[in-house]
Amino acid sequence: MKRIILFGAPGCGKGTQADALEQQYGYKKISTGDLVRAEVAAQTPIGLEIKTLTEMGRLAPDETILKLLKNRLAQGDLLNGYILDGFPRTLAQAEELSRMTVDTETAIYLKIVNEDVVVGRLTSRLTCSQCGAIFNSVSNPPRKAGLCDLCGGPVRQRADDNEETVRRRINVYREQTQPVIDYYKRLGKLHEVDASGTIEEVSAAISGVLN
Ligand SMILES: [Zn+2]
Repeated sequence: MKRIILFGAPGCGKGTQADALEQQYGYKKISTGDLVRAEVAAQTPIGLEIKTLTEMGRLAPDETILKLLKNRLAQGDLLNGYILDGFPRTLAQAEELSRMTVDTETAIYLKIVNEDVVVGRLTSRLTCSQCGAIFNSVSNPPRKAGLCDLCGGPVRQRADDNEETVRRRINVYREQTQPVIDYYKRLGKLHEVDASGTIEEVSAAISGVLN
C-alpha cells in the first residue's frame, strides 16, 4: 500500500493533479474536505457536530477528522494506495497519520514559485452559483457569457477570488502548512514540484517523483 500526500496552496492545481494521479495509477483520492461534507450532508452524529462547530466559526477537531479518515481507509477498496488531499493540516495530524503505517509514503508539495501566475489563475476564475462548476474567463470561459455550460445557472466571480484575498489565502496556507512540510522534510519524504507550470508539466513532474 502506497500513500501519497499532496500539499499546495489555493490555486496550485492540487485537486486536478490528484484526479490525474487517480486515473493514471489507480490510487484512490481521499479528500478530508469531501469526507466532512458527506457527513454533514448525511446528517450523521459526526456531521451534525461538525456543522455546529463550523457555524460557530470553528474547525472540526483533529480527532474527528482522523476518525473519518480511519473509517474511509477501512472500506477496503484501496488496492494500490491512496492520495491524501487536504490532509494532514497540522503537525499533530501528521504525527497521527505516521502511526497508520503503509509500505511507502511520498509527500509532494506543489510549490508556488511564481505567485503572480497563481494569482492570475484564481482572479480569473468564474464559479456557477447554482452547481459550483468552475470556469476561467481567460483559459476556459463558459460557451455563453455569464451562463453555466452544465446547468445554465449564473456564472460569476466569487467574492473571495479578488487579488487581495487570494494573496492573503496563499500566505495563510504557507504559514499554517510550513510545520507539516518541515516534518516530511525531516523524514526525507518531501518532494517539491513547481506548481506554476501547465497542468501537463506539473503532472509530468509528479510522475517523475513517483516512478
Ligand atoms: Zn452550473
